[in-house]
Amino acid sequence: MSLPDSISSLISALSKLPGVGPRSAERIALHIVQAETAIVKSLADSILHAREKIKFCTTCGAFTEQSPCAICEDSRRDASLVCVIEQPMDILSIEKSNTFRGKFHVLGGKISPLDGVEPDDLRIAELEKRLTHEPIKEIVIALGTDVEGDATSLYLAKRLTRKGLKISRIAYGLPAGSGLEFADELTLSRALEGRREML
Ligand SMILES: [Zn+2]
Repeated sequence: MSLPDSISSLISALSKLPGVGPRSAERIALHIVQAETAIVKSLADSILHAREKIKFCTTCGAFTEQSPCAICEDSRRDASLVCVIEQPMDILSIEKSNTFRGKFHVLGGKISPLDGVEPDDLRIAELEKRLTHEPIKEIVIALGTDVEGDATSLYLAKRLTRKGLKISRIAYGLPAGSGLEFADELTLSRALEGRREML
């Protein structure tokens, strides 16, 4: 038996989503075609609504509906302290640890020549621009502890070095070779408190 075209194309669209294999795509598609129309419509609407609403904060690079984002706009946060992370979702991990009251800067990846990611592909120039007009005194680098994370941290430390700016990196307690998303809140808050100055 071959499936009707509309189901096949739904399965093929779903299977392009991250973490959704062919079997799950099939299960989800079959669920959708049997669900109430109103429920499916509301799902489709939420997907479209989220996609249309969400943009990147032009300052820090976080996901936001309004740029600058709520964290960049929050005057109660310490503007002299900026934590550099790889992905927008890393902000969530650090916020959950409840130990960091500074601001953020999303790099958008790590330097990885093998994958074709060069420094120019990352939001480093944007960070340098922030250094010229924000009262930043310390940059806390919170990238993963894999080879690319190490290389990128070192590159940043060298490139961002300037008078009166402290550059530190979280390290303590983070499992070697992994990213922030795998660290629990306590580990992350200890890693932030135990950050060490680079260079
Ligand atoms: Zn922001």
